[in-house]
Order: sequence, then structure tokens, then C-alpha cells
Amino acid sequence: MDYSVLAETYRRIEETTKRLEMTALLVGLFSGTPPGIIRKLVYLTQGRLYPDFMSIELGVADRLAIRAIAFVTGYPEEEVTRRWMKEGDLGLVAEGLVAVKKQRTLFSEPLTVERVYASLQGIAGASGAGAQELKMKLIAEILHDARPLEARFLVRTMLGRLRLGVADMTILDALAITFAPREGTGDARAAEEAATADELAARRRNRAAVEHAYNLCSDLGEVAERLATGGMEGVRGIRLEAGRPVRPMLAERLGSMEEILGKLGGKASLEYKYDGMRIQSHIRIGKEVRLFSRQLENVTGQFPDVTAAILQAFNSRDHEEAIVDCEAVPFNTETGEFLPFQEVSHRRGRKYGVEEAAEDYPVILMAFDCLLLDGRELAGAPYPERRKALARMFRPTDRVQMSESLLTSDLSAAEQFFQKALDSGCEGIVAKSVSEDSAYRAGARGWQWIKFKRDYKSEMEDTADLVPVGAFAGHGKRKGKYGALLMAAYNKDLDRFETVCKLGTGFSDEMLESMTAELGAQRVPQRHARVESTMKADYWLVPSAVYEVLGAEITLSPVHTAGFGKLRSGSGLAIRFPRLKQVRADKRPEDATSVQELLDMYERQLKKVE
Ligand code: ATP
Repeated sequence: MDYSVLAETYRRIEETTKRLEMTALLVGLFSGTPPGIIRKLVYLTQGRLYPDFMSIELGVADRLAIRAIAFVTGYPEEEVTRRWMKEGDLGLVAEGLVAVKKQRTLFSEPLTVERVYASLQGIAGASGAGAQELKMKLIAEILHDARPLEARFLVRTMLGRLRLGVADMTILDALAITFAPREGTGDARAAEEAATADELAARRRNRAAVEHAYNLCSDLGEVAERLATGGMEGVRGIRLEAGRPVRPMLAERLGSMEEILGKLGGKASLEYKYDGMRIQSHIRIGKEVRLFSRQLENVTGQFPDVTAAILQAFNSRDHEEAIVDCEAVPFNTETGEFLPFQEVSHRRGRKYGVEEAAEDYPVILMAFDCLLLDGRELAGAPYPERRKALARMFRPTDRVQMSESLLTSDLSAAEQFFQKALDSGCEGIVAKSVSEDSAYRAGARGWQWIKFKRDYKSEMEDTADLVPVGAFAGHGKRKGKYGALLMAAYNKDLDRFETVCKLGTGFSDEMLESMTAELGAQRVPQRHARVESTMKADYWLVPSAVYEVLGAEITLSPVHTAGFGKLRSGSGLAIRFPRLKQVRADKRPEDATSVQELLDMYERQLKKVE
């Protein structure tokens, strides 16, 4: 398959301002892809070579790309750099220079997806002595044969900055539309047009099954390949596997313990909500332990102490394999007290000094769920059963314990437990359903888990995790940097980001500097297709970062688009007096606070005032 097909699709995705058109473009692309390479094509569209959780980066530095572009096009490196400074995007520079390259070549072979993928794999895998030269050679070879548009996307991909902003859910939609109708109806487009009510219902079920499979394996390439080769049957064959991360189950929130117990049928298992870092542990005795963050990044190398602690506590006489959901909480080894969440961030992203950091910032692992045990999928079992399995598999130690819990239907006991949790240095509690259908719902934020925190005294009962989608130029002291950011919540139903406030407080000068640089790399010339805004920003950004924001209250405003018209016609939701609390590097934009959550928060805020 020609890489030019991909490049052309990427160009059109980049230019569209409509989410549905984005999906349609992907459907067109997937329909024409041979099943044998669809896995690779999906990863490439995500700007990667492997599923996210494999954490293998391409790792081409700007310098090296500049050298390669200069070499292939015959322009001096200084010229490439000068254009880069002006345009801010090496992909566009490569495109422009390849179009007018000085060295015309006699032999050039059209680029295929397979060849591009193999070269990028070679680049990612190059290490040790001679790695730079090998990378340079591989880059030059493909750039040499690239047409201008291909060069744009090749360079961005190798730099790790493809920036298409296509969400996983959009890819899943497109995969389901492309491959699921095959079931009975034959070709995708005909099925689309001739859909009866029954077919539409079947399609919705298929879409849900495709998403479920993705939640279990966290690998879009795997889902795509199964669909393309085995249809829905193939997708239903995807199961939990120790060693491969599962998309985490998440909690809803409510404003009082009374409501929570009511919502959970009068009885719940209450648990301390520890304020640390979520770690999904995959244990395979005799093989290895793998640890994944909330974002499913493989963090095993950063937490050797956690691996050792798990192996010590795990009952390996009776069990050999498990997937366990835990929170790693920083604590004082002398007093046993929990320490602020930020302590654990010193452990993140380290390549060096890992052992020292483990000594300086020790963590205790609080286990709270179990999804798989010795090949048996427990995720579908009710919560009490999973909890029992958890109790059997660990012998509590000073580094691994079960989360503190209380099974109760009594409101005052629940209130006391909540107070105890706060006194112990926890954020609050997570109340969990114990009903027959209290399965582990991978990848879903649902009412099976309800969190209750009380840490902020402002009117807004909780902080909101928001996504910068635009920026405004700074003035005075902030000249040359961003003065404020346009922040948005996530509308899950429409898969888009809707604005709620302009954020300009809570940043230190250094932060502003680094933020301008980091967000600057996400700049796009026009409003991104997944952003809904009536406000016009000076710069537009691909939704990518997540910032936790504390506000005074949620109000209705005609200027913002979050939940527009839902509560009052001509108005959306806005956050008043927003200030930055912290950057949430552990969240993806789709994990940001949803518009529905903000609507709920607004309703509860009203109730309190009455
Ligand atoms: P927050 O920012 O409030 O932690 P979140 O979006 O990261 O929210 P939620 O699902 O809303 O996650 O809240 C549950 C989170 O609380 C989990 O992701 C986990 O990290 C943490 N946690 C701490 N203790 C528990 C527990 N006993 N059971 C479940 N989750 C817990």
C-alpha cells in the first residue's frame, strides 16, 4: 500500500473542522487497507509504531532531522534551521524543501506503508555505538524517496509530533463502521445507507463490543487486526491477558454520603481513597512483574521497590498469575504516615537514580481490586468475589496492604468512616457497589464506584481537569509568553472539547515559560476539529495536556460552549475565578472532566445554595 494514501488522508484530516468528516476519512482509509498491514497503519495514524503501553519512542532529535533534510535536499543545515525558526514545524520545512530540492535523483522508489514502517522501526531500535549514523542513513533513505506531502508527515512522525489529534474513540468508530457491517450485509457503505432499525441496533451493539475489546487489551492495532481478519467474532475473542494493560475503571462523584448510599442500593463497600499514583500490577511468577500507570504507560523500570514488595507479599505457593489494581502512596517509613501525592511524582519518568529515588520517596502499595487470577477472568465477577480473591493472594506486609474498607448500610457509620479516612491523610472515600452486577467495567466511569472528597473550601465542590485548546498572547511581564489559556471540558457524547474558562492565574514565571514551550509544540493554524468555541483565541492548540483547575463556582455564560443550551438557551457553563492547581501529566485529554460532570456539579451547587 502506498504511503501517499496515508499522507493524503492525514492532510485532509488536518484540514477538516468536522469530527464526522474525520471519521469518514478514516473509514475511507481503513476500507482500502489490506488486513495484513492494518495494525501498522493504525499505529502510524496514532503517531506511533506500537501500542501506547509499549512506551517505545522514535527518539529522533530535531538536530538529526535537520541534518537529514539538508543532506537529502542539498540545502545547507543553516538554511533548514532558519526556515524551521520561521515556520516552527520541521515537517512543513521538509515538505517545502523536498518540493524544490537541488539534488534531483534518477532512482526513487515509491514509498510503501510497509517500507516506511520498517524504516521507522529500524530508527526506533537503533542503539549503542553508531546509532546516530544508522538513524541518519534510514531517515535519509526514506526522505530521499518521499514526495513533498509524504516528507511532511514522515518528519513529524519520526520526531514524535504527528499531532493529528485523532482520538482513540474516533479510530474505534471508524473501525466499527468499516468492518462490523460485514457481518451480514456485505460492504460498509451499502450497509450504511440501507440501515433498518434492527441493523442500527446491531451496529450499536457491535460498536459497544469493539470498545469493550479495546478496554480489555488497550491496543487499537490488535482490535483493528482482529476485526479486519475475523470480523466481530475475532473481536469477541479478545480477553484479558497478564502483561497487557487493561483500561482502568473510574469513579463517578456525588456530593453527600446519603446520596451515595441511596445510589448504591442502600449498601456499599466504602474504601479509603488514597492519594497516590494508580498502579496496575501484572504478576507472572517465574516470568516477570509489569507495572502500568493510569495512562497505561509501562512504569516497571521506575518502581523496582514495588516489584520487590509485590513478589514478597504475593502468595506464590498457591497462585502464579494475577492482574491487580492498586494505589502507590508515598509514606513515611518511620511513622507510617501518608505523605502528599506530589512526593510520588519524584519517581516518575526517571531513567537514572531510580534506586536512590526509591529510598528517598518510598511508597506503600494499597491493593483494591483484582481482575485476573491464574488464567481466570475475574473482571466479570461481582466486587465482593474479587475482593476475596485479593485477600487470598496477598499476605499483607509493611509495603503491600489491602485498601481499608467497610461494608455498611448505616449512614452514621459511613460518615465516621469518611472522617477516619480524612484523618488518616486520605482524600476521601470511594464507595463501591456490592450488587450482583458490580463487575469491573474496564475503561468506564460509572456509578459502580462513587468518590466523595472534601478538600476544597470554595463553592466548587471539586477541582476540574481541563484541557488547553487555545492560548492568548501575554502582555507586559508576560510578553512573548502565553498570558492566558482557553480551557475546555470533554464532551464524551460528541467527542469534542467545549470551552469553560480563560485561565491566567496560578502559574509561576518558570511555569509560564515551560508551558509556552510545551503547548507551543501543539499549535495548529486553525481551531482543531474537536474543539467547540465561540471565543477566538490568538493561537489554537491540539487538545493534549490536562490541567487541574480550582474555581470559585460554576456559572452560566453566553461566551462558553460547555453544555451549551442544556440548562439555559444561549448559555453554556463557565468556571469563575479559575486558578491552576497542578498539571495532570497522568491524564489524557479524554480523561478530563466531562461536560456532564460539570453539569452535575452545577446542579449540586444549586441545591446547596437553596
Ligand atoms: P481523581 O483525580 O479524583 O483521583 P481520577 O479521574 O484520577 O480522579 P477516579 O476514578 O475519578 O480517578 O477516582 C478514583 C481514583 O482514586 C483511582 O483512579 C485511583 O487512582 C484512586 N484510588 C485511591 N484509592 C482507591 C480505592 N480504594 N479504590 C479505587 N480507586 C482508588
